[in-house]
Amino acid sequence: MKVLVLNCGSSSLKYRLFAMPEESVLTKGVIEKIGTEDAIHRYGTESEESSLTEPIYDHREALSRVVATLTSKQAGVISSAQEIGAVGHRVVHGGEVFSSSVVLTAEVKESIRAMSALAPLHNPANLLGIEAMEEVLPNVPQVAVFDTAFHQTMPQEHYLYPLPFVLYQRHKVRRYGFHGTSHRYCASRVPALVKHDLSGLKVISCHIGNGVSVTAIERGRSIDTSMGMTPLEGVMMGTRSGDLDPSLHQFVMEREGLSFDELASMLNKHSGLYGISGISGDVRTILEARAKGSIRATLAFAMYEYRIRKYIGAYAAAMNGVDVLLFTAGVGENSPLLRALICSNLTYLGLALDREANEQGTGERIISSPASAIKVCVIPTAEELMIARDAHALVIGLQRDEE
Ligand code: ADP
Repeated sequence: MKVLVLNCGSSSLKYRLFAMPEESVLTKGVIEKIGTEDAIHRYGTESEESSLTEPIYDHREALSRVVATLTSKQAGVISSAQEIGAVGHRVVHGGEVFSSSVVLTAEVKESIRAMSALAPLHNPANLLGIEAMEEVLPNVPQVAVFDTAFHQTMPQEHYLYPLPFVLYQRHKVRRYGFHGTSHRYCASRVPALVKHDLSGLKVISCHIGNGVSVTAIERGRSIDTSMGMTPLEGVMMGTRSGDLDPSLHQFVMEREGLSFDELASMLNKHSGLYGISGISGDVRTILEARAKGSIRATLAFAMYEYRIRKYIGAYAAAMNGVDVLLFTAGVGENSPLLRALICSNLTYLGLALDREANEQGTGERIISSPASAIKVCVIPTAEELMIARDAHALVIGLQRDEE
């Protein structure tokens, strides 16, 4: 079965076509600037990428282009759209309703819509993609895979904010956590790497990309995670502040004459590495500036590392120990410097890094020395593969039920 995985934003969409259960990627692509005359469609493999600029006015049109490209004579990888047996959508917020992936129905869509208040930038865009796909491939079952679902195992004392309880009862104000599909995938790779079942392991998973989150995973279940009701809470990120004193909001708004929307925009888009360095939220750019002696880039990177390390310490305390520390996503997979800095202050836990494995190895691997009390791993994340697996499994289940 071919499974099309979609990640729809408000003006962009990413896609990847998998052959399942072989788990091979047949092709992938991205369309940006949807809604404009000069939308850009890039597709193909890393070695052979094609690019096309043309007017694409909405998501339905964009998805029609995707299907046309997948089946085209020149660049196509399938002979007809009928080969697509399932579509898997990344959906950001599943609230308390979804603790696992589900086949999309009118009721599921209604729940996703209802959760838009919790993720106003993401859920409406995810829904746009779902509804457009229903029009483009009306007979293909679609599956929603939620970023929040993996964290639904958090106990109440970890997910509640110490606020009047009525806010939770009335409005579901609580911590949800994100990047769940990535943390779940990485945790699923741990047993093969460390030769130990997840049921006996305490794992701390660090997803360090543009967004950053740290998750405590005990016996394969998320018991705490650094992002909260929204992806703004937790560690410092590329452009997001992470944890702050809630009282500073009013102070800054009054002193700077900001509206609440302006403050929210500052915290999400102009803070973090970008806010401190004044240069960029992109770690590669920060590292380049730091290497050239930029004081603010050096400070930004030191704060970034420190705030991630603090969460690791907190989660070691939360679980009364840690057996595996794993790093994933753009920075986690590619910055030996950040990993080395974080690990250098965890020696009190018996952690010892293998310098060569950290600096020179590639791909999925252990980077701690054999004597280390904690196994440290690098695991390239594969959220799309996880979505393809869930979509495939659910649709196979549907077909069995129909038989
Ligand atoms: P997203 O969260 O958008 O999926 P990624 O997981 O791709 O993002 O991570 C993007 C981040 O990874 C950027 O800050 C980028 O600079 C960083 N990154 C990518 N390659 C490297 C590298 N070789 N060294 C350090 N950082 C890197």
